[in-house]
Amino acid sequence: KKISIAVDGPSAAGKSSIAKIVAKRLDYIYIDTGAMYRCVGYYCLENNIDLKDEQAVSQALKQIKIEMDSNNHIFLNGQDVSQVIRQDQVSMSASVVSSYQAVRTFLVEQQRQMANVGGVILDGRDIGTVVLPNAELKIYQIASVDTRAKRRYLENQERGLTADLELIKKDIEQRDYQDMNRDISPLKQAEDAIVLDTSAMTLQEVVDAVLKLVEE
Ligand code: ADP
Repeated sequence: KKISIAVDGPSAAGKSSIAKIVAKRLDYIYIDTGAMYRCVGYYCLENNIDLKDEQAVSQALKQIKIEMDSNNHIFLNGQDVSQVIRQDQVSMSASVVSSYQAVRTFLVEQQRQMANVGGVILDGRDIGTVVLPNAELKIYQIASVDTRAKRRYLENQERGLTADLELIKKDIEQRDYQDMNRDISPLKQAEDAIVLDTSAMTLQEVVDAVLKLVEE
């Protein structure tokens, strides 16, 4: 039987890496909800919409159409934005727009519709608590700040980006604080979520742990 899987947790805990592999293994659909917030942030940057102007950002939602294909590519109004939305500038704008109620209502609605097909794995901050409170399996994926910073550092190096471990660590700590303390849907563990601390686990070990939970 195909189920819905919710994966939540702080940034760089390894959610999307795990969700992608698990989706492939189970032939499930993977929905990267963070990418959807990035699309809204990117649209605002591209169209000179003042990110601080909640009214203006909320109005802009009418012009935004987001689609995903089976290769995890994401399209904003028909244009493939999978790469451009990964820029640091877009991360920051996504973080700002995700604090607006209208943006969350807009995207949560779409995420629920996308998930309605069954056999889905969604990763984000509020999947188990808000988007899919009835998901059959909820994972709360964590790792120590040091571990997450080191992983991000290696990832940046691999991508040929400059990386400063201390700076990355500070950035992660700041985002943790913002994610956990915002008014709308703050990051928190759903009561029925299973905590997976991946600090001392390899990717393969985490994947195996999740697959085992799916079987149960
Ligand atoms: P999230 O989606 O939670 O922000 P990612 O999946 O992007 O996190 O993972 C962040 C980085 O850490 C990636 O470079 C990824 O390859 C690496 N990573 C994730 N999980 C593990 C793990 N268990 N062991 C080693 N590296 C990992």
